[in-house]
Amino acid sequence: MTELSTQTPAEIDEQIATLTLKLDAAYRTLNWLDSPQASRTFRREERVAEQLAKIEELSIELRPLQNEYIRRGRWERAFLVTSSDGHVHSTMGCSTCHRDTVFGWMTVLSGKTHAEIIEAIGENACTVCYPDAPVAQLSTAERKSRARAAVEERKAEREAAKVARELAKVPRAHALAVKVDELVEAFGLDDERREAYAATYTDGSRFAKGYDTAYSVYSDMIYRRRTRRAA
Ligand SMILES: [Zn+2]
Repeated sequence: MTELSTQTPAEIDEQIATLTLKLDAAYRTLNWLDSPQASRTFRREERVAEQLAKIEELSIELRPLQNEYIRRGRWERAFLVTSSDGHVHSTMGCSTCHRDTVFGWMTVLSGKTHAEIIEAIGENACTVCYPDAPVAQLSTAERKSRARAAVEERKAEREAAKVARELAKVPRAHALAVKVDELVEAFGLDDERREAYAATYTDGSRFAKGYDTAYSVYSDMIYRRRTRRAA
C-alpha cells in the first residue's frame, strides 16, 4: 500500500467510505443477531463472534486513515443526499438534514476548496453548508419560500418514513385480521360464531392468538360454504 502521507484526500476518503459501509453492515448484522427474533438462529453464538471479530478488524484498518484526516487538519468533504432533493452538504450533521436522510459520500470532491466544490455542484449546493453558493443570489422572498417548501418537504418525508416503519412492524396476522373482518361482513356469521370471533379481538390477553383464531374461523367458514355449495 502507498504511504498514507502521499495519498490524496479523495484516495483516503474512498477507503474510509468503503470500510465504513462494511462496518455498518457488520453492526446491522450484529444488532439483528442480538434481537429476540434471532434467538433461534442457527450458529447464533458463532456468528456473533464472527461479526465482533470483523468489527474489530475493520476498526483497526480505519484508524490510521482517520488519523491522517485529522493530522492534515480535516479537509473539505461533500455529501450528496440520495434519499430526496439531491442537495450536497459539507457535513452529514447539517441542520437541514434529519435522521432518515441517506447520503452518498462524494469522495472525489474530498480535499477540494469550498469554491471548487461549489463550482462542481452548482445549484445543488446546500445553502446552509455553502452560503456563498449560486442559489444564494435569489431574492430574499424567494429564498424564504424555498426554505419553507424545503421544511414542508422534509416534514412530509419524515411522516412517510414513520408510516413505513410502523407498517413494517405490522405483523402478517394483522393484515389477515383485516381480511377476516371484511369477509365476516360479506358472508355473515351466526350469533354463536360471531361471539366467538369477537372475543378473539376484544380480550386483550388473547390478542396475539386472536388473529390466528379469527383466521381459523374464516377458513372454517369458507370450507362450510364450499361444502354447502357442492351439496
Ligand atoms: Zn447542508
